[in-house]
Amino acid sequence: MNSTYNPYDEMLKTLERAATMLKIEEDDYIQLKYPERELKVSVPVRMDDGSIRVFEGYRVQHSGVRGPYKGGIRYHQNVDMDEVKALAAIMSFKCAVVDVPYGGGKGGITVDPSKLSKGELERLTRKYSTLLYPIIGPHIDIPAPDVNTNAEVMAWFMDAFSTLRGQLTPGVVTGKPIPVGGSLGRGEATGRGVMLMTREIAKKTKLDLAGARVAVQGAGNVGGTSAKFLHREGCKIVAISDVSGGVYQEEGLDIEQIIDFLSAERGRTLKDYNLSGLKRISNAEMLQLDVDILIPAALENEITEKTAPSIKAKVIVEGANGPTTGEGDKILEDKGVIVVPDILANAGGVVVSYFEWLQNLQNFKWEEEEINQKLESIMVKAFNDVWNTAQKSETSLRMGAYMLAVDRIATASKLRGLSC
Ligand code: NAD
Repeated sequence: MNSTYNPYDEMLKTLERAATMLKIEEDDYIQLKYPERELKVSVPVRMDDGSIRVFEGYRVQHSGVRGPYKGGIRYHQNVDMDEVKALAAIMSFKCAVVDVPYGGGKGGITVDPSKLSKGELERLTRKYSTLLYPIIGPHIDIPAPDVNTNAEVMAWFMDAFSTLRGQLTPGVVTGKPIPVGGSLGRGEATGRGVMLMTREIAKKTKLDLAGARVAVQGAGNVGGTSAKFLHREGCKIVAISDVSGGVYQEEGLDIEQIIDFLSAERGRTLKDYNLSGLKRISNAEMLQLDVDILIPAALENEITEKTAPSIKAKVIVEGANGPTTGEGDKILEDKGVIVVPDILANAGGVVVSYFEWLQNLQNFKWEEEEINQKLESIMVKAFNDVWNTAQKSETSLRMGAYMLAVDRIATASKLRGLSC
């Protein structure tokens, strides 16, 4: 992480602005500036060569005012406490925006998982789960997948927790494989939500999705699925990128084929994908493309004061958490670019995580159609709540979303009497 950028400070600035616009007293939101609990763990792992390596792991529980802490687990070489704290806070606001009864949490391990074998990853995950055991549980804190973690990792995590507890406990994590308590629709929920939010903003801005030119940064769970769903809505996905760089095709990419190729084998990237007629582009070039819609769906700190001035997209839908810095955001606002903020745009994942958790607690299974319908109705309602809040206060959708979230958490806090 670069030394001048602190994602937690970015979050604090947005929180302060929202609280000022809401005209609420500092006493009513001061606790949101501080995570309720921060845990750092050292995770020893027996490597395949017999040596032992120790990795740093984190879990931050930001706010439990509205319900159990909820948020993903990230495996990445740049994970640090400030990043995890910021992502945990983002989860508190996101759960409030879509009005699911959760607080916010986040976890992570500082590791480049592409350098570990599958066995090493499994042992890392199991040990991390046991170290978190005292502070997690289906009614306390419920992790989920994030960057470089997936359903398989969630199954290992849940199994290690269940072994310690002496009881199968699927509700301790969401995003699991279907046969061990996962929910239909969860794997695609974040991308489906991004598509729904793109559709809603397109309606408001009179942008025709049929033939709209779209660029997607990130080709993982969120980026890949969003691209697929938007393609099915008639959009032309002209570019997609991942950690290895991007590909561009003026007439639109065969996105289903690309995503199938990437997901067929662990560790595959776009640089392994070869097709004549494709132009290779860098991630920097990708952000500058002349497109209607840009979906940043990789990591934070991508749209900054350096990159924002050359962005040509009319609409940005934030699939990633925290892709835009405060300075970047200001530049976009001045240019009239409409941004659907992360805490709304990518909330589809946590909504279906909530459904998965409910199914686990009730030992019951819902049909996929019902899940997708309920997801759509919650997301569309949240979009309208945010839109109306922003319109009423003559502000951006990001500010509208934060105002809605801060107000909901502060109200719950007041009712519980925590602010006394
Ligand atoms: P993932 O690991 O499935 O995919 C991440 C993608 O980003 C990969 O294609 C990777 O190659 C690419 N990438 C990594 N570094 C990059 C870089 N420097 N430039 C361009 N691309 C890069 O992760 P994901 O689950 O899709 O998460 C992506 C973002 O969405 C994160 O910000 C995450 O917090 C957020 N998010 C995820 C979920 C979820 O349900 N998985 C839900 C809400 C938000």
